[in-house]
Amino acid sequence: MIYTPEKYSIADKKNVPFIDSKEIWDFINTEASTPEKVREVIKKSLSKKRLSLQETAILINTNDPVLIEEIKEGARQLKENVYGDRIVLFAPLYVGNLCINNCVYCGFQAKNKDVLRVTLEKQDLQKEATALVDSGHKRLILVYGEHPHYSPEFIADSVRTVYGIKSKNGEIRRVNINAAPLDVEGFKTVKESGIGTYQVFQETYHPEAYSKVHLGGIKKDFDWRLTSLDRAQEAGIDDVGIGALFGLYDWRFEVMSLVRHVNHFEAVFNVGPHTISFPRIQNASALNIDKQYLVSDENFVKLVAILRLAVPYTGMILTARESAEIRDQVLRFGISQIDGGTNLEIGGYSKHSEEVQDLNKEQFQINDTRSLNEIIEELISKDYIPSFCTACYRLGRTGEHFMEFSVPGFIKRFCAPNAILTIAEYLEDYASFETKAKGYKMIERKLEELSKTQEIAALQEKLNLLKQGQRDLYF
Ligand code: SAM
Ligand code: SF4
Repeated sequence: MIYTPEKYSIADKKNVPFIDSKEIWDFINTEASTPEKVREVIKKSLSKKRLSLQETAILINTNDPVLIEEIKEGARQLKENVYGDRIVLFAPLYVGNLCINNCVYCGFQAKNKDVLRVTLEKQDLQKEATALVDSGHKRLILVYGEHPHYSPEFIADSVRTVYGIKSKNGEIRRVNINAAPLDVEGFKTVKESGIGTYQVFQETYHPEAYSKVHLGGIKKDFDWRLTSLDRAQEAGIDDVGIGALFGLYDWRFEVMSLVRHVNHFEAVFNVGPHTISFPRIQNASALNIDKQYLVSDENFVKLVAILRLAVPYTGMILTARESAEIRDQVLRFGISQIDGGTNLEIGGYSKHSEEVQDLNKEQFQINDTRSLNEIIEELISKDYIPSFCTACYRLGRTGEHFMEFSVPGFIKRFCAPNAILTIAEYLEDYASFETKAKGYKMIERKLEELSKTQEIAALQEKLNLLKQGQRDLYF
């Protein structure tokens, strides 16, 4: 029954839009879900093979609660077998919210006169990044509205400013970007500043739904956005992040399209995207959307499990848009990155304000307002290893998710030890007394597990060096 190879109505070529809505709906409307098929698809995924669109449609069409549990269990197993127990932590840093577009779901849309427009000057950006370094962060994603002011040079300068910060023992070691699509030259300029991942979310992959919610500005152009990460690849950024904003159109269509986007990258560039994001629409100043496509918690949990199975070697990001409860549920299905201590107010990290969110200062409502330390303590209590690792990117080991997945023993040799080293660094420099005690107990447990299958003397030596004051140690 396993369908390969895949052929789609639109052949995959660089910079050519690849979504055929009718074809995607045909898959959804024709692939029936039976227990045999569902189990076969889960089995294929557990053998670490990406699913085809037909196979993904079978999972999407599964409504039997027993089989849905099997899908979730499959996702849990895949996560355990493939990724282990690390969760990478990062923080978003909004650099500016000027915007020429009118996306009806976003607080920053041009016609929203209630929102306070702010762009961080260099010194303010330094303050924000320093506050994040001082809370223990090592990885940031810089976020921008779409506006001529945020040129590729401006973005590259802000990246360099953030990399230039050193505070006490810490610094930011990886800067990712979430900004508007650029042309190839623009992407090259940004790449030269040393970014990690460049993210552009398609929002919705359905062209008609797209035009209903993007009412003005460059972002109205569906194809320009759809092909943006092809241009990023052409510019040499091989580390890109895709995403859909769930709630704008039927979630089943968006999941299929995300998988189609992955297939497109594999066909054209021989490597899938680094990460997938699946934000759900949250309340925002000036929010004006048709509520018919909002995704229930139940469907959200299901779609995360399906995505995990469909693209086993793509990193999955879950943000503080979701509540602590939902995050806890879907973390088990193979989420690889979450944000911690998130503050969306522009300039909000250095103010250390504990105020309730003011939607006229922020893009949208968040539902997980825990501090980084609280999140780390919780992860540790659930036996995850919170990680700030940036080793692969700094050693030029790009396509790290693919390596984690395909190189035998990679996780045990590199990822797990590096996660342990980075969390030990956090425990030494930033953790509360209780978190430190719990964290070192967790590390002891993980060392004991690792020692059953491999030599850990080099790791123990690096841990001792950390305790003596050395920093930024990795394999
Ligand atoms: N302005 C750039 C753009 O649109 O690509 C940068 C990204 S925007 C600041 C970050 C992302 O936030 C958007 O791509 C969208 O998916 C998401 N977003 C916008 N409004 C949202 C809302 N009300 N709830 C949740 N996510 C939202
Ligand atoms: Fe501007 Fe991005 Fe918000 Fe659209 S989603 S209004 S482009 S900041």
